[in-house]
Amino acid sequence: MQFETNAIRTQLNRTENLEHSVPLYLTSSFVFEDAEDMRASFAEEKERNIYSRYSNPNSSEFIEKVCQMEGAEAGFAFASGMAAVFSTLAALLDAGDHMISARSVFGSTHSLLNNFFPKWNISHSYFKIDDLDNIESLITPKTKLIYAETPTNPGVDVLDLEALGAIAKKHKLILVIDNCFASPYLQQPIKFGADLVIHSGTKLMDGQGRVLAGITVGSAALVDKVYRFSRITGPALSPFNAWVLSKSLETLAVRVDRHCENALSLAKYLEKHKKVNWVKYPFLKSHPKYKVAKKQMKAGGCVVAFEVKGGLEAGRQFFDGIKLLSLSANLGDSRSIVTHPASTTHSKLSIEERNESGITDGMVRVSVGLEHIDDIIADVGQALG
Ligand SMILES: *Cc1c(COP(=O)(O)O)cnc(C)c1O
Repeated sequence: MQFETNAIRTQLNRTENLEHSVPLYLTSSFVFEDAEDMRASFAEEKERNIYSRYSNPNSSEFIEKVCQMEGAEAGFAFASGMAAVFSTLAALLDAGDHMISARSVFGSTHSLLNNFFPKWNISHSYFKIDDLDNIESLITPKTKLIYAETPTNPGVDVLDLEALGAIAKKHKLILVIDNCFASPYLQQPIKFGADLVIHSGTKLMDGQGRVLAGITVGSAALVDKVYRFSRITGPALSPFNAWVLSKSLETLAVRVDRHCENALSLAKYLEKHKKVNWVKYPFLKSHPKYKVAKKQMKAGGCVVAFEVKGGLEAGRQFFDGIKLLSLSANLGDSRSIVTHPASTTHSKLSIEERNESGITDGMVRVSVGLEHIDDIIADVGQALG
């Protein structure tokens, strides 16, 4: 069946109440028939729920949907996107191991690699996102995996997944892709050779700014390692949030279609605006990786980046002029959100690091929501004026 149908019709078996919509399993543990059932369950001779730190029916339904969307064999759901990033990397990397990551990664991922992994002697090298040829020169005998996001945050650059998949395969490295910006509806990295795909469910998956969540899906053997680590360390998603997310996935396709339509319209409007220096959106012909985006994405996503003429001061004036859109740090929400990366999410980076990630002083990131496009454009237009 098609993506939309699976997203709606994948459901836990009905209980004897024959409910139409799936019930909420708010339970920390599950009971056993007898001593033998209990022994066999703990020995993993049967697949069944034991304790919600390990598995829960609501999480299982959410995981099953995302596996179908991404073409994955197995998955594990987490309390946040960062819990997914940390637990996945920590489960796969041993002391002394090395990983290669794109330089443009989510801010907290960057901090994890720089401030915490060195405690366990896990090192990394960054590659520049416009120089994939450089990756091979960074590989050492200790290198175990390659990590990247596409489109990137906040620069909206696009990395060639097929090229990354080929490099990982040639050198027998694990390829991990954070697919949060695209959502599984727009892009399925496993098709291009990714071994594991990570999402922050907080963004487009929930899409209404209500819950934090994360998920890792991919090869059964690798997910098993992530599962063994996570069932002991305890980053599991709450059943309530899993239930919210599984319902949200039913509308993912229609929501993301409209996000992308609105984002493309705003990007085209900004491209013609005289107070704007440049606009970046994967499905604009002017995007440097337009062809790659067309190859691997169904549409351009919800995020548009642009630069206001006049640098920092003009950027601040733009934000103070915004009336309808939210000044907030989230993205992928039904409400449109504007952020100023240089003074907020990326203010801790040095100017050189910001420049390497394409973050200029006047740069604005818009997560284009589901309000009527005329109202979104009117607000951005009057703030630019
Ligand atoms: C938000 C985000 C994360 C972290 O997710 P949380 O749910 O906030 O922990 C990771 N990667 C990307 C690309 C994100 O946008």
